[in-house]
Amino acid sequence: MELNIKKISEKKGAHLNFNFYEKLSPMVIGGEKIDFNTPAFVEGTATNVGSGILVEGRLNTEILVNCSRCLKTVCVKIDTEFKEEYVKESKLNEPSYHELYEQGEIHIYKENKLDIMNEILENVILNIPMKVLCSAECRGICSICGRDLNVEQCDCRTESVDPRLAALQKWFEK
Ligand SMILES: [Zn+2]
Ligand SMILES: [Zn+2]
Repeated sequence: MELNIKKISEKKGAHLNFNFYEKLSPMVIGGEKIDFNTPAFVEGTATNVGSGILVEGRLNTEILVNCSRCLKTVCVKIDTEFKEEYVKESKLNEPSYHELYEQGEIHIYKENKLDIMNEILENVILNIPMKVLCSAECRGICSICGRDLNVEQCDCRTESVDPRLAALQKWFEK
């Protein structure tokens, strides 16, 4: 996802529109593999704001993640807006820019090529829900026999017992 900003690089206020429709490779986040169900659609505008290039736009895609309870694959839509500022690499010689760069507030571009791929991936990651359920009523997997409780019942005793109560129960069983 590379923008050629040659046309707008010299003139403050100049802008260009762009769009990409690109298949992204699977990612591994916190040990979990995230696959893409559809290519990512990214569209927006790059504007020369004087100090750098401001890239604003919208990202649409669908990812495949596992249900937090039963591990079935669930498709999650991602539709989010993004706004990132890029400065020429040589600007990093100035301490104020260097600091912003270290903090991740700004990004850099080289020559006239501005690559937004990393920031797009960051936006995908930020928008992955912490907990995904295939349905609000998902009953999960039995922690003892491993059966999918949405499909069949099992006879395991899975009442979750408070560990303190469990200790008491054991004492009574003696
Ligand atoms: Zn589920
Ligand atoms: Zn069971």
